[in-house]
Amino acid sequence: MQTTGQVIKEITQQAWNKRPLIISGPCSAETEEQVIETAQRLAKTGKVDMLRAGIWKPRTKPGMFEGIGAKGLPWLQQAKKLTGLPVTVEVATGKQVQDALTFDVDVLWLGARTTVNPFSVQELADALRGVDVPVLIKNPINPDLELWTGAVERIARAGVKQIGLIHRGFHTYGNTEYRNAPMWHLAIEMKLRNPELMMINDPSHICGRRDILLEVMQRAIDLDYDGLMIESHIDPDKAWSDAKQQVTPERLKEMLDQIIWRKEDVNSEEYHAALEKLRHQINHLDDELMQILSQRMKIAEQIGNYKRANNITILQTTRWNEIIERASKKGEQIGLSKEFIIKYFDAVHMESINHQKKVMDS
Ligand code: PEP
Ligand code: MN
Repeated sequence: MQTTGQVIKEITQQAWNKRPLIISGPCSAETEEQVIETAQRLAKTGKVDMLRAGIWKPRTKPGMFEGIGAKGLPWLQQAKKLTGLPVTVEVATGKQVQDALTFDVDVLWLGARTTVNPFSVQELADALRGVDVPVLIKNPINPDLELWTGAVERIARAGVKQIGLIHRGFHTYGNTEYRNAPMWHLAIEMKLRNPELMMINDPSHICGRRDILLEVMQRAIDLDYDGLMIESHIDPDKAWSDAKQQVTPERLKEMLDQIIWRKEDVNSEEYHAALEKLRHQINHLDDELMQILSQRMKIAEQIGNYKRANNITILQTTRWNEIIERASKKGEQIGLSKEFIIKYFDAVHMESINHQKKVMDS
C-alpha cells in the first residue's frame, strides 16, 4: 500500500512531466474558504495540474498586504486533500522553505525579487540541500540572464534535481502596455542555453491586467513554452493583491479552451513542424525589432524638437559617422558583417532624420 505522501509525490511527478503544465491559483492565500473554493473550482475545470498561492508576499511598498504567512499553509494542505492538486508556493528565506516543507508543499518557487539577490538565493540553496523537492525559478526583475543563470546554478549545486524556469517579464522604466515587459528574446535565449529545463510562462505578471492575458498566453504557446502559471481568484476584483490581473477559474477555463494549441502535424515531415516553430520565433523577434525601432523614432522626434528650439541643423555628418562606426564595432563582436551594419544603420538613421525633419517642419 502506498502512503498518501507517496501518492501525492507521484501525482506531482506526473504534473511536472505533463505538457503543457498548467499552474493556477490566487496571487495570495487570503482565507481558508477562498483557498479551498479556488482549488475546487480550478479542479472542476479539469484543465489545471497544480495549485499556486502566495503565502509570503514581497510587496513593493510597506503597509500593503504582505501575505497571510505560515498560518495559510494548512489551508493549502486541506485544498490538496480535497482536490488532489499538488501545491506550489513562493519561498524567499530558509525559514520559509522549512515551513513550506513541514506542511507538504510539493513544489517551491523563487520569485523575481529573490532571483535578483544572490544572498537570498544562496540561503534558499542551503535550506534545500538534501531535500528532494522540485523548484521553479522566476526570471529576475531586471533583464539580466546571468543572474537568472546564477540562481539556477546555486539551486542545482545544492543537489536539487528538478528545476524549471518561469518567465514573468522584466521591469522597465516608463509605461508600456505591459506591467513587466516580456522581452521574449531573453526567455528564448535562456531556453537555448538550458534546453533541459522546462520553461513556463507567467502571463499574469507580464500583463498586469486581464484584457491582454489571452494574447500573451497564445504567444507563449506559439513559442513552444512547456506550460503556464496564471493567477486566478474566486472574486478577482476583491483580491487582496494583484486584483487587476486575476481571473475566475471559469474564465481561465474559457481562455485555455480558446488557445490554439499548436501540435506537430503528424502527416508532415518532422522538419516541417520544427521549421514552423522557428518561423514563429522569427516573427516574434521581428515584432520586437519593430517596437524598438518605433521607440528609436520617438526619441529622434524629441531630438528634432530640441534642435528646432535651439536652431541647429538636422543633419550632422559627424554624428552619422559616429553611429555607423560604433555599430560596426559592436556588430563585429557579435558576428554581424560590416557591410550589413552599414546598410542597416544608414537606413535606420535616414528614417530618424525624416522623423526629426517632420517635427522641425511642423
Ligand atoms: C507572484 O507570483 O505572485 C509574484 C509575486 O510574482 P513575481 O515574483 O513574478 O513578481
Ligand atoms: Mn501576484
